[in-house]
Amino acid sequence: MSTIFSKIINKEIPANIVFESDTILAFKDINPQAPVHILIIPKIEIPKVTDINGKEHASLLGEMMDAANKIAKDMNIADDGFRLVFNCGNNAGQDVYHLHMHLLGGRKMNWPPG
Ligand code: 5GP
Repeated sequence: MSTIFSKIINKEIPANIVFESDTILAFKDINPQAPVHILIIPKIEIPKVTDINGKEHASLLGEMMDAANKIAKDMNIADDGFRLVFNCGNNAGQDVYHLHMHLLGGRKMNWPPG
């Protein structure tokens, strides 16, 4: 089932896009939890981590990692460090069922996360 992220991919609703390729989109989170909070998503609809097939989606996931590294460098948070998070399902607090990787940085992170 399509989510609000499909509307962002299709430019039906606006987002602050920081990176785009044929397969990947990255945009600023509407409710940032850190000075830098970017969502990196595949353009195809994969609801959640447990729907990933390693062989089928390997290059897509690699592209998401490349995008994260590029954005972190572009936003000057690569040297100080940052956090990448996938929330999967109810217990992790996943709200939007379109696979997304959170890129969080620009402040010291706590561990363990809440
Ligand atoms: P989740 O809790 O599913 O891991 O994260 C979903 C994220 O999407 C949240 O951090 C939330 O703030 C963000 N989000 C939800 N709707 C929108 C939207 O319409 N635009 C943007 N830019 N971010 C959104």
